[in-house]
Amino acid sequence: MSFIEQLYRRLPTVGQHAAVSAYGLWWKNMRLGGAFKEHVERFGYRDRFDADQWCKWQKRAVSEVLHLALQHVPYYRETWTPEQKSAARSGDLSGLPLLEKSPLRADPHRFVDQRRAGATKELSFYTSGSTGTPIASLWTPDELQASMAVREVRSAGWAGTSFRKPRATFSGRISVPDPNSEGPFHRVNLAEHQIYFSPFHLSPTTAHQYVDALVKHQIEWLTGYAVSYTLLAQFMLDQKIPPPPQLRAVVTTSEKLTAEMRQIMEQAYGCRVFDEYSTVENALFASECEHGSLHVSPDMGVVEILDEAGQPCKPGVTGEVVATQTMRRYQPLIRFRLGDMASWSDAHCDCGRAMPVLAEVSGRIEDVVRGPDGRELVRFHGVYIGLEGVLEGQIVQESLQQIRVRLVATSSATEQLRNRTEATVTDRIQQRLGEAINCEVEWVPSIERTAAGKFRAVVSKLAGSATKDWS
Ligand SMILES: [Zn+2]
Repeated sequence: MSFIEQLYRRLPTVGQHAAVSAYGLWWKNMRLGGAFKEHVERFGYRDRFDADQWCKWQKRAVSEVLHLALQHVPYYRETWTPEQKSAARSGDLSGLPLLEKSPLRADPHRFVDQRRAGATKELSFYTSGSTGTPIASLWTPDELQASMAVREVRSAGWAGTSFRKPRATFSGRISVPDPNSEGPFHRVNLAEHQIYFSPFHLSPTTAHQYVDALVKHQIEWLTGYAVSYTLLAQFMLDQKIPPPPQLRAVVTTSEKLTAEMRQIMEQAYGCRVFDEYSTVENALFASECEHGSLHVSPDMGVVEILDEAGQPCKPGVTGEVVATQTMRRYQPLIRFRLGDMASWSDAHCDCGRAMPVLAEVSGRIEDVVRGPDGRELVRFHGVYIGLEGVLEGQIVQESLQQIRVRLVATSSATEQLRNRTEATVTDRIQQRLGEAINCEVEWVPSIERTAAGKFRAVVSKLAGSATKDWS
């Protein structure tokens, strides 16, 4: 724990609000100052590019990034072969190797544009990495402002709101350090009219305090962890807590959003839910438009979805997501393996934007569960559909033969209901992974979060799964 964190922990609640606001002011200037406004204008202008304009724009951006990598970034200069360098010179991404996380983890500065290293004010962000060393993502303030601007235009903006409007955030920040706190479970950032919620204290008994905070601070939109907002929504529905009338939108980030989660939230909050899909590195940015399509922003980077042979997947076919940054050029990542699975849609979106659309983000590669006969399951959410008496669940792969499903019961779940649920879950797991799999259902009071407050839908104890990241 850093000195600042230790200090923060010792402050009384009112001091913590003040500290959050002081930090918030500095942070606001960093994120929403500088070139933020110009970036907002530029992203807004490109919003209506047609396919041809995007194609030209991206081709130029890729060429610039590849030349930069060839000339000024030690990692690419030292590791690309002569053939790969020649591919880079002709702007051909497919001729370049995929970038793993390990070299980036080992030496993040080896990826920095050497002309700017040391001369620019550098900001570091870390993947939360519950296992292994976190990876440092290195940014300039201008890049941070651009990444906020794309959110202002294409997350908040498409959802009909703005970062200038009061918002609540569920994130990994330890806003309420005392695990036994009796409330409040939020801290106020006056600088941005924002409240930070603690994902660690949310329970049926504390839910009303979260909703009270939304009312008291006139919060107009919610952003952050999808699972935390779904849980809060479920508690509100169970306890018949009405939605704060001023709520306009929910923009979920960081965790997979399923149709069921969306439905629970829209019912409880009385407004629409919009999904955002991005990563710590911002190698990829996708957000949901007014017509419900998850559009990739081509001015943030080039996104490829590849099959096992490294070939581009056709629309509707799930593959691995690989991204090349074009917006962030201080530490450019080229053909970076994000560790996510997704598929393209070829459907035309009624919003009229020409940005590519993701049909589905299926989950992280380490979310794969395997059966004894080798079959794999990525989309396991079907296991939970329509289950009664279940608040949340986690699938633990103990071995190739053994799956443990950890379930948290709702307060109203009777023993009879639990027995029925156990039978349904076992049945569904065996349907998907074969009769030979041994499925054990365990009822637990809660499912622990990662250090960053995130929910892990799958935990695999198979060899090779332990070193993956959770960003
Ligand atoms: Zn659209």
